[in-house]
Amino acid sequence: MSGISVGEALNWASVQLERGSDSAMLDAEVMLQHVLSVSRTYLFTWPDKDLSAEHWQAYMAMVNERAKGHPVAHIIGEREFWSLSLLVNNTTLIPRPDTEMLVETALNLKVPDNCRALDLGTGTGAIALALASERPSWQVTAVDKVDDAVALAKMNRDKLALSQVEVLQSDWFSAVEGRQFELVVSNPPYIDERDEHLSQGDVRFEPLSALTAADEGFADLFHIATQARAYLIAGGYLLMEHGYQQAQVLREKLTELGYQDVATVRDFGSNDRCTLG
Ligand code: GLN
Repeated sequence: MSGISVGEALNWASVQLERGSDSAMLDAEVMLQHVLSVSRTYLFTWPDKDLSAEHWQAYMAMVNERAKGHPVAHIIGEREFWSLSLLVNNTTLIPRPDTEMLVETALNLKVPDNCRALDLGTGTGAIALALASERPSWQVTAVDKVDDAVALAKMNRDKLALSQVEVLQSDWFSAVEGRQFELVVSNPPYIDERDEHLSQGDVRFEPLSALTAADEGFADLFHIATQARAYLIAGGYLLMEHGYQQAQVLREKLTELGYQDVATVRDFGSNDRCTLG
């Protein structure tokens, strides 16, 4: 035994983390849950429970990593997205809650039961796997240009036993040449390369290739929108996440390219977050 209780460990950690993180207590809890393999409720039900020496050592090491700035998701190696627990590492973007709005929007579209859906730049596989978990009859294809991301998305697919999801290495549409889809979704890189928030917080530990795009962040959004037309059936949908200030320009671009019923959806923080056409 370590002589340190659950409550004491959490208080110690939140003090260590207060300076570097605006979610110190939450970070402390998530990491302790992970070390002890317990639910959040457990931490509050058993605050006086002693940690074993091994658990306390492991926990201190994690808190020190977090204090150095590393994202909690990288430290514990997983992240919740939708109702799924996904493996994550530093080769892809860490799935964000904002992106759940894209999933929700996609699930509300009028598409056939055997919908063919394509997720471009899938990273961990988050969007594709969330869609497949909700719509077992869909044929979901997830692609990424980065080999490590393809490997990670496959690991997540296998862990979640969503074997109907096909994961391919592909530079945007290159591996699905000639195929047709009812739905194309993407959370591509869309941050302006000069954006100053890239030097702050968790994003410093994520690959720039998953975050930034040329032309004030529009390069990949525009590329996908232009190419997607050849891969969508008539009446199919394109749905992309973007920055909250990019909505209007993107709507104009989609309209110019011939997309119809172009509309933007807001996220839970009331920011324009994804655009549909
Ligand atoms: N929304 C993310 C951020 O601001 C970026 C996601 C992306 O580039 N696709 O950190």
